[in-house]
Amino acid sequence: MRPLLAALTLALVPARGLTGDTDPAVRLLERAIEIEQRGPALAEIWPGYWPPGQPFVLYLPEVGATFGGEASPGGATFREGPLEDVRFWYVLDYPGGPANTVALRLETADSNLDTLFHEQFHDFQSDAFRWLGEAGGEFVDISALDDLETFTARVEIERHLLREAISATTDEARQSLVRLYLAAREARLGDAPGDVRLAEDHMEWSEGTAEYAATMAMTVMEAAGATSASRIAARLSEPLFSPGQSYTRSVFRGRAYGVGAAQAWLLDAVDAPDWRRRVEAGQPLAQLLAEHFARGDLPPAAAPPVDDDLRAEVRRQLAALPPAPTRVAEVLADGERWLELVVDVPASRAADLGVSFRSDFTALADGLALNNVDQFLLQIDDLRVEARDRRIVLASSNSAEDRHEAVYFLELTAAEARTFEAQSPLPSFPTLELPAEQRAIIEADGDRVTVRLTL
Ligand SMILES: [Zn+2]
Repeated sequence: MRPLLAALTLALVPARGLTGDTDPAVRLLERAIEIEQRGPALAEIWPGYWPPGQPFVLYLPEVGATFGGEASPGGATFREGPLEDVRFWYVLDYPGGPANTVALRLETADSNLDTLFHEQFHDFQSDAFRWLGEAGGEFVDISALDDLETFTARVEIERHLLREAISATTDEARQSLVRLYLAAREARLGDAPGDVRLAEDHMEWSEGTAEYAATMAMTVMEAAGATSASRIAARLSEPLFSPGQSYTRSVFRGRAYGVGAAQAWLLDAVDAPDWRRRVEAGQPLAQLLAEHFARGDLPPAAAPPVDDDLRAEVRRQLAALPPAPTRVAEVLADGERWLELVVDVPASRAADLGVSFRSDFTALADGLALNNVDQFLLQIDDLRVEARDRRIVLASSNSAEDRHEAVYFLELTAAEARTFEAQSPLPSFPTLELPAEQRAIIEADGDRVTVRLTL
């Protein structure tokens, strides 16, 4: 048994540069205290996001967890042993702590904390942010873009201009670069269907602001490290396309983190009046940026042209993209055996049906395909399905009268599929746990098994 560590223990170890030999439990406690000490600066990032006493948990499996802020009111404390309810890299509203406790699972005692600060911002958003009108979805129909090559090349030009704007050393240079950026963006989106702009605005608003907050928080935590500007510039220098990921995933989600963070950073840099409150009220970052930098009293900027080298590079990247399905039926047709899971809950409980996953995914017009699931958890009350190492498709849900139905498809191996028999208790497998005690109607006909879980 490792003794419970007190702050006194911490005073005996050097404060900085601890890696290697340091007891991971000591390091974990030390990091929690660092977060607490920087609380006042973290609270300045965005009012309400990291309030004084923000409760948090840093968890290192095999070692234990430190509890900080209001999760341990007398000062950060370490407890050894596993936290059974932290299955994923982070948990928002950690059930063992006060409201809004954010829990982060670390790989090592020195792992980066940006996920903690990013995800806590999402928790804050869920209370403080209201998007106006229709929400932009994860899926964007790129077949509606008539020149994908030019569209993508302009995306790259915009990222470059934003990077330059953030790194600019004079206000004048920054202003003209932002205006060029806005002109380039308008030239690109002016030709595109309206839902493309909506998807971009929405993703920048949600992920970009979370990325902005996490970047500012990491700058606070690593005061001797890189500036927030160079952190965001580095994000904008990352390749647009990640290996194995679809166009939509890379361009509409992946791009939005750096671009949205840069837009927020620029609004902050010029002290745009009330910009955080207006973002909370649902205004897109790019719109606020245009209000500030592309006003009618300023000379108009012209979008930069796409040069041949960039076009050739983009063409090469587009050719290397993996094929991406756009509908649930296409993904299902690509697999041999599927378990169709229908989860049927009272309509009043639909919002409590929680689905968490860790996986690469492809957004579909009618669902979401999880391509190689590391972890999947579906839970409402004590009804729970856990799965990994397989493809899973989240199909659409239907609400009728007083019931709500959500449909999921889990890919099965031949051996797993053979185990299901109509009207039998649900089997479980090493990588797929089904609620055996559930009253489930099963239709099993070899390659398609249907199970209905009812709450
Ligand atoms: Zn996020």
